[in-house]
Amino acid sequence: MKFENNLDFAKHLDDKDELKSFRDKFYIPLVNGKESIYFTGNSLGLQPKTTQDHILNELEDWANYGVEGHFHARNPWMPYHEKFSGQLADIVGALPHEVVAMNQLTVNLHLLMVTFYRPTKQKYKIICEAKAFPSDQYALESQVTLHGFNYEDAVIEIAPRQGEYNIRTEDILSAIEAHKESLALVLFGGVNYYTGQFFDLKTITEAAHKAGVAAGFDLAHAAGNVELQLHEWEVDFACWCSYKYLNSGPGGVSGVYIHERHATNPSLPRFAGWWGYKKDSRFEMHKGFEAIPTAEGWQLSNAPVLSMAAHKASLDIFEEAGMARLRAKGKALSSYLMFILNEINEDSPEKLIEVITPANENERGCQVSMLMLKDGKRIFEALKKHGVLADWREPNVIRVAPVPLYNSFEDVSTDLAKRSNHFLKINLTLSA
Ligand SMILES: *Cc1c(COP(=O)(O)O)cnc(C)c1O
Repeated sequence: MKFENNLDFAKHLDDKDELKSFRDKFYIPLVNGKESIYFTGNSLGLQPKTTQDHILNELEDWANYGVEGHFHARNPWMPYHEKFSGQLADIVGALPHEVVAMNQLTVNLHLLMVTFYRPTKQKYKIICEAKAFPSDQYALESQVTLHGFNYEDAVIEIAPRQGEYNIRTEDILSAIEAHKESLALVLFGGVNYYTGQFFDLKTITEAAHKAGVAAGFDLAHAAGNVELQLHEWEVDFACWCSYKYLNSGPGGVSGVYIHERHATNPSLPRFAGWWGYKKDSRFEMHKGFEAIPTAEGWQLSNAPVLSMAAHKASLDIFEEAGMARLRAKGKALSSYLMFILNEINEDSPEKLIEVITPANENERGCQVSMLMLKDGKRIFEALKKHGVLADWREPNVIRVAPVPLYNSFEDVSTDLAKRSNHFLKINLTLSA
């Protein structure tokens, strides 16, 4: 599409947008009494207006029924987690019995590694992306240490080449091939939190399988952002959080996917708890763990209903919007943003912004990361003062995520451009 950087053009794109009305389903935070331009849905998604009712229903049922709510609440709490499998399966491209909502992300990463990282003296290495999210690095470090290895030796980080910002798939594949004798697991992000690069999950999984190891993915920045086909791609396992693109509130419940060839195998080792026990005899309280032969068999505890009620409010909206339409709009929003950033560079006496997110729309989600070549922090603060909520990452990256559910082309156009004229002015003043 040929873009123009002016308000009429942006409004024209908004008029044609089938998802336009979804913005009204969310509370948009105010800055100085005016609706902000909220570009941090990759960090904490906005609150749906329906969330309060979903949570209040559970509070009412708790007040009315006490323990009997496990059976008699409008959404009985005993099988509460079962209400999520269909909608989550649609979001990540899985079968319903391959997914479950439970715990939180880092917890789930550990639980999945208990099952899928079982190193031997010969095969103990893990391939992951360089600059993975810190929590993932700590999880990996503590897992390899637990098994008696050390990080430097056991964890192979794949980095972009010198002078590049993104990791080449071919470099991931050649590392898998080169280390296959000593490899135990490939564990990658889906979309890198810093650069916004969307990795080729299918190709990475194929390579891992060729090397005889499992492939797992942390989809914190991918779930609800890009289209996934985890089952079809034969991905072994994955987990994600629900408070970023999935708008389910701070600290919201995480999601887990385990391919059915593993999920249906109750003899796979795992850390067990009563909620993973066969449903028909869970309350007979027998000795000896027997797993549910689905992803539910990895559950430890009964469902955190209040936080999951918020998750349900959001998943209903995703179901209505559909991932295909969201993905198409996400691509268009990020392309439009990149076009405008390019214009800002061209209008400036010197280049201000290096976009470090892949230019190919199939290799990114809706996040665009800008490496600020000059006065980044001041520009970031100026944007914030003018109601543009973006995200700062040291040393000098501004992350901006126009989210298809509630951001508009107008958000990207006028406001970022007009307000970014401030950045040009600030910059010129500073350099004068
Ligand atoms: C946001 C994020 C986390 C956060 O972990 P929690 O356990 O939910 O606090 C972990 N990993 C990645 C890749 C993330 O983007």
